[in-house]
Amino acid sequence: MLIGGHVSTAGGLANAVERGSERDCEAIQIFHQSPRMWRPTAYTDDDFEAFRQAMDASRLDVVVIHAVYLINCASKEREVRRKSLTSLKHALRIGDGIGAGGVVLHAGARKGEPHEPSVKRAGKAIREALESSERCPLLLENTAGTQGPLGRNFDELAELIDAAGAGKRLGACLDCCHLLASGFEIRSIDALAGVIDEFDAKVGLERLHCVHVNDSKVPLGANRDRHANLGDGELGRKGLRVFLSEPRFEDLPALIETPGSDGHGPDRNEVRTAKRLRRDGLRQRT
Ligand SMILES: [Zn+2]
Ligand SMILES: [Zn+2]
Repeated sequence: MLIGGHVSTAGGLANAVERGSERDCEAIQIFHQSPRMWRPTAYTDDDFEAFRQAMDASRLDVVVIHAVYLINCASKEREVRRKSLTSLKHALRIGDGIGAGGVVLHAGARKGEPHEPSVKRAGKAIREALESSERCPLLLENTAGTQGPLGRNFDELAELIDAAGAGKRLGACLDCCHLLASGFEIRSIDALAGVIDEFDAKVGLERLHCVHVNDSKVPLGANRDRHANLGDGELGRKGLRVFLSEPRFEDLPALIETPGSDGHGPDRNEVRTAKRLRRDGLRQRT
């Protein structure tokens, strides 16, 4: 498992590599632009080159991009879909440029619209975005929330992948905080194993490219997306030990997206905590 966290790109893409190294990360996740604005950050081929060189010189193995939060590929509003598509294409092109392991996406939300046409619209936009880029995988994240986010369970993730053409570059990212909030009991070895069996049957483990490691401020099934620092939430140390030691996650990047001690994102302590929880979890399984 490659343990790391979300880091800032303030001052330039390549700075994220330094921040990841300072935190003893083995993988990092970045925003390629402000996640709450549509305005894209322009990068040059030199920026990509500098980033790749910094990665090569570091102990980091993988970088993953998180797409803009405003994206709603399922929106009924043409303008929102157009902006979402532009933003997603941009993210995938940057992913190609820096050799990212994937672009993580919350596919969209129904916002009261019927389910099937929403999935269809999302699938169409995702397929088009993939066609405009070359290599970077697109990873649909399982979601939690009240606005009808698509991807709250594995049937929905599978539907989205099918609607987007089920190509090889379509993958998934599982967030343990979202799983718990969406009603998946994952806090014991057997319970998590059952959940991953279901994921494998419906989506396919070969599509799982990364996991997000967050504790949850809200209890099982509360259906809200609120990250807590590791060990301070409803998953707790026990639940996180189970998640981090799941054998089928062995080769994946595991990225922390918690507030951290100062609210600026996962710090060195969070990364250290995750590594320790994994070690303890592995010991308990033997
Ligand atoms: Zn996440
Ligand atoms: Zn979240």
